[in-house]
Amino acid sequence: MALIVHKYGGTSMGSAERIKNVAKRVAKWVRAGHQLVVVPSAMSGETNRLLGLAKEISPDAHSDSHLRELDMIASTGEQVSVGLLSIALQAEGVEAVSYAGWQVPIKTNSAFTKARIESIDDVRVRADLAAGKVVVITGFQGVDPNGNITTLGRGGSDTSAVAVAAALKADECLIYTDVDGVYTTDPRVVPEARRLKAISFEEMLEMASLGSKVLQIRSVEFAGKYRVPTRVLSSFTPWDINIDEEAKSGTLISFEEDEKMEQAVVSGIAFNRDEAKITVVGVPDKPGIAYQILGAVADANIDVDVIIQNVSHDGKTDFSFTVHRNDYAKTVDLLKAKVLPALGAADVVGDQKICKVSIVGIGMRSHAGIASKMFGTLSAEGINIQMITTSEIKTSVVIDEKYMELAVRELHKAFDLDQPKA
Ligand code: ADP
Ligand code: ASP
Ligand code: MG
Repeated sequence: MALIVHKYGGTSMGSAERIKNVAKRVAKWVRAGHQLVVVPSAMSGETNRLLGLAKEISPDAHSDSHLRELDMIASTGEQVSVGLLSIALQAEGVEAVSYAGWQVPIKTNSAFTKARIESIDDVRVRADLAAGKVVVITGFQGVDPNGNITTLGRGGSDTSAVAVAAALKADECLIYTDVDGVYTTDPRVVPEARRLKAISFEEMLEMASLGSKVLQIRSVEFAGKYRVPTRVLSSFTPWDINIDEEAKSGTLISFEEDEKMEQAVVSGIAFNRDEAKITVVGVPDKPGIAYQILGAVADANIDVDVIIQNVSHDGKTDFSFTVHRNDYAKTVDLLKAKVLPALGAADVVGDQKICKVSIVGIGMRSHAGIASKMFGTLSAEGINIQMITTSEIKTSVVIDEKYMELAVRELHKAFDLDQPKA
């Protein structure tokens, strides 16, 4: 008997029929003798619908008190899902009980709309499991130290599932989704993308952090920190397929640099359209400038990604960085109100029509010339690179959003990712 956590994404929970199907699959695992905790997302489109309503009422608000209400609203999507899945399980003859995040409780900090899980109490869940019940826990949400409902950022149900698996020391966390594993890049953008049987934890971390939405970055961090065996697999296979076959399907996140793993120099390509570029123009080139700009941004709890500062002419320079698009307006307001006057900089300008495309691979450590091949491929397509950032196992470029799909497709070809590996 093993303790297994299943996570089902929005599409997998997308209709009453699909929820019944999830219940049948879970029931199969229970009948095979396992203890099951299930973490579903809101039904597909529901979180967007809920947040859309809030935006209709108050399009530009971004105060903390507004964000608190967004979490109150968005968290209801998952609350509906757990209730529906529990009654579907009961209809299958399986004892099931649902909990919202605050009931477990899943404790988080107070960073509304992007809260971090701080601890998970396992007492209640363990008691139910011991009583033979399936426990169905809301994805995406928690409760802060003041009892406020929080959410974990878009895609956060992955993180709930892996964190619950870590807290329960589960034998495995299975992330069921609408693709049958992790691919060399998003198969919706590049149909030639190939599924990876396994991906190293480090590569998965980079892919997720660079925008591959198949797993939320924090779920991968949890998997790494607590060594949770985690697998991404399809919820669209027939629910009654052989359980051993199902358990080996999809993509395993591997913690060893296994020799049998596909050793490509570049393993995958990630991209995202979620960022916006902000440039503070005409900044005096003197010590402390980066700190004055980015310190103010960090104090407002806004994450900064790519940063560039150029050499100065006449003692003035431009300072550019990217933030999440959701934080764009807030960041520009903050810079105009607080930082520009103090710095004596000329202006703040922004560009929301950018994207970031990244190549990822642990093989890049030991191979030179990979980044230049990337730049060459983009230049052959006439794509201008606005910003570049590199680490040991990735190179990212910021380019005009309209070239995103072209760039991803050409890079996928250039690095032979569409070729089956021997
Ligand atoms: P869920 O609702 O199950 O959480 P998501 O939409 O969040 O599903 O994530 C699954 C989607 O991630 C896929 O449908 C696919 O379009 C996208 N995706 C992006 N990059 C990749 C990748 N490298 N491999 C597989 N899927 C990817
Ligand atoms: N329902 C949330 C979202 O749409 C969380 C998730 O699906 O993981 O972002
Ligand atoms: Mg998701």
